[in-house]
Amino acid sequence: MSLSLPPEFALRVRRNEPMSRHTSWHVGGPAEIFFNPRDRSDLASFLRSLPEAVPIHWIGLGSNLLVRDGGLRGVVISTLGALDRLDRLNQTTIYAEAGVACARLSKQCVKWGLGPCEFFAGIPGTLGGALAMNAGAFGGETWEHVLEVQTIDRRGREHIRAATDYEVGYRQVRGPVAEEWFVAAKLHFEHRPGINEAKVRELLERRRASQPIGVWSCGSVFTNPPGDHAARLVEASGLKGFRIGDASISEKHANFIINHGQATSADLERLIAHVQATVERDHGVWLETEVRIMGGGR
Ligand SMILES: Cc1cc2nc3c(=O)[nH]c(=O)nc-3n(C[C@H](O)[C@H](O)[C@H](O)COP(=O)(O)OP(=O)(O)OC[C@H]3O[C@@H](n4cnc5c(N)ncnc54)[C@H](O)[C@@H]3O)c2cc1C
Repeated sequence: MSLSLPPEFALRVRRNEPMSRHTSWHVGGPAEIFFNPRDRSDLASFLRSLPEAVPIHWIGLGSNLLVRDGGLRGVVISTLGALDRLDRLNQTTIYAEAGVACARLSKQCVKWGLGPCEFFAGIPGTLGGALAMNAGAFGGETWEHVLEVQTIDRRGREHIRAATDYEVGYRQVRGPVAEEWFVAAKLHFEHRPGINEAKVRELLERRRASQPIGVWSCGSVFTNPPGDHAARLVEASGLKGFRIGDASISEKHANFIINHGQATSADLERLIAHVQATVERDHGVWLETEVRIMGGGR
């Protein structure tokens, strides 16, 4: 049975929207309902209009998502192009909404002379995704900078929560309440007047040298196990270049899986499972996925 919505939203949502259009792996079946709010009050009204039991999924830039070929039941809320306010509140504190791209955040902080924010430059996601994942690179992590977050619940009510209300680890964030999503955050940086673009360029260059950039991937597929690197283990198992369908392990960085154009989510998931089984057999280590897998089978 199709989900009924009030007329003001029924005309604006997209039904059966292919998630392959919204993920950096370019795979994923249809979302039952896809909604891009105009702003926060629009988002709150939309949430209030939803029946209690409807599943709600959030997406930023889809750069860490594997949506299965069967797609997503319920509603997908995309913050991209919405929730894009970015302000400086005082000498060391900024306010950013969840849809702000990490690259924009980094660029603006450099202009404001705030750092260290350079690591955000190469993360191809939104602040909302970075908050959900505790995204990080080159020794920097998102939650090192969070003072407080603003969240919204499924009734459209906003909450302010201190960073200390969250359990934060390596690519893991657990909030005090289920079904609350990030709409904004206050972030703290040091005032570093001398900060300049050279550092950002250097980090982007280091990425280009070691990672396959400009191809369809989700970045690192697996988290690094304690004291080791997933890429080292995958490479040591001889899996670089290993292919299933149109998906293969990158020759450049063994923790990246590339969709060469025609891969399905099932191909990618099979490849992930093959890597996990092979690495466990060879090294006795089970690699956990960093990429978030969502949705139903074909
Ligand atoms: C080439 C490449 C390089 C990458 N390099 C890095 C790297 O160096 N470091 C790193 O950490 N990651 C990296 N990634 C992975 C990815 O960019 C990050 O995980 C990023 O933070 C995801 O942001 P997103 O907006 O794309 O989130 P999405 O992929 O859209 O979503 C990721 C998760 O966040 C949740 N989410 C999104 N928005 C919200 C919200 N507003 N409230 C609550 N939950 C939300 C989603 O439901 C999902 O569970 C890389 C990816 C690629 C493709």
